[in-house]
Amino acid sequence: MRLTFYGACREVTGSQHLIEVQGQKLLLECGLFQGRREETYRRNRHPRYRADEINAVVLSHAHVDHSGNLPRIKAQGFSGDVHCTHATHDICMHILRDSAYVQRKDLEFVNKIHKRKGLPPFKPLYEQTDVEEVLNQFVSWGYGRGFSPIPGVQSRLFEAGHVLGSAQGVHELQEDGKTYRLGFTGDLGRMNLPILKDPVILSDLDGLIIESTYGNRQHDPASEVGDELAEVINATAKKRGKVIIPSFALERSQELLYHLASLQDEGRIPPLPVILDSPLAANVTEVFRSHPECYDQKTRELIDEGVRPFGFPQLTITRSAADSIALNGRTESMIIVSASGMCEGGRIVHHLRNNIGNAKNTILIVSFQAQHTLGRRIAERRPEIKIFGETHKVRARVKILNSFSGHADRDALLRYVEKVRETSPRLRDVFVVHGEPDQSLPFIETMKSWNAFKVHYPEEEQSFDLK
Ligand SMILES: [Zn+2]
Ligand SMILES: [Zn+2]
Repeated sequence: MRLTFYGACREVTGSQHLIEVQGQKLLLECGLFQGRREETYRRNRHPRYRADEINAVVLSHAHVDHSGNLPRIKAQGFSGDVHCTHATHDICMHILRDSAYVQRKDLEFVNKIHKRKGLPPFKPLYEQTDVEEVLNQFVSWGYGRGFSPIPGVQSRLFEAGHVLGSAQGVHELQEDGKTYRLGFTGDLGRMNLPILKDPVILSDLDGLIIESTYGNRQHDPASEVGDELAEVINATAKKRGKVIIPSFALERSQELLYHLASLQDEGRIPPLPVILDSPLAANVTEVFRSHPECYDQKTRELIDEGVRPFGFPQLTITRSAADSIALNGRTESMIIVSASGMCEGGRIVHHLRNNIGNAKNTILIVSFQAQHTLGRRIAERRPEIKIFGETHKVRARVKILNSFSGHADRDALLRYVEKVRETSPRLRDVFVVHGEPDQSLPFIETMKSWNAFKVHYPEEEQSFDLK
């Protein structure tokens, strides 16, 4: 029984962890590596295992850094089943189609430059047809249901509380009369996030693979989100300005809608128009509507009281480009939620161009902004920024909320491992993935000081015998 790490090793993207049992190969996650363009295409194009030898895949959730390379390995000969929860299946349909579309758009631009320079064109990692074909290989399960992705492995998925449909896995491996129960957190969410149930603590494990995105950071409490949002919206409404919120299409957008619906229902903010302007976010919101089995108690109660977080009276969801452009002509105070979350593309860039120069408006940053992105430059409060090659003075208020996050922070991760240990007398291996060294290493040091199990920080392509 062997475990090999092919991504998210000492970094956060490209999760792919390979289990080998009884001569069969099971891939946990098939994520896209995301970085600078050249490296992105090179690393995703050539996975370091043979795609046609993979017998099955289990996905924890639909984010592209966990699912986005599936169409690629499909095109390279992978023909097995892809197991996940029902909601993850439905979200993957939209996320993977969007991923193919974004690549095509991105390369249209790059290839124009390549042509001018006489360089060969870049090819996308996959086309829409590859996406449609791999979607046909999906098999979805309810939480807690048992299934056998390959002979010698019994698996079950449990709530991860990170995004709709997100799951941790317990995989019971059997070979030569030996059993090894391997847990995998996927991306581990937080307690008390809106809409989602809280993450489950896995138990009775021999080994655990755990993410560590925020292994060395404490978040502001999620309970403060409503108060902070209300402050920003009321202050902007007083000036008759617009609140522009760059947002990820999956989860963050729906969380925002949930908060805005609740705040308007409670009368804590005025009934301003709320516009969700992103075709992908619109599709994903549709999936949220059709999976009430994933909602927590509080969300169900809210809906019973007549509040519609994904369809409240002031909400307009725009799909067509014409409807999006028409927003520019509207002068009244309103809230616009749009993608992409880091402002690197999508309709948000147009809204920023039209609104960032006006002191009445607020740009509200609600998610992490990576280096070298437009979102990062705005979050740094630079006085001037370039959008579509033109320089704009930043006169709008820029407000950053740190209370939004879909990942467990340092204390939550440590508490989680302590609880796993309490219920896992045989726990002997903890593998730390999905984190950069400044986040993962302090987390690892603390766990090592317990002297309770071995802590591994796998490198790319490092293998471990599970015994
Ligand atoms: Zn994720
Ligand atoms: Zn992730």
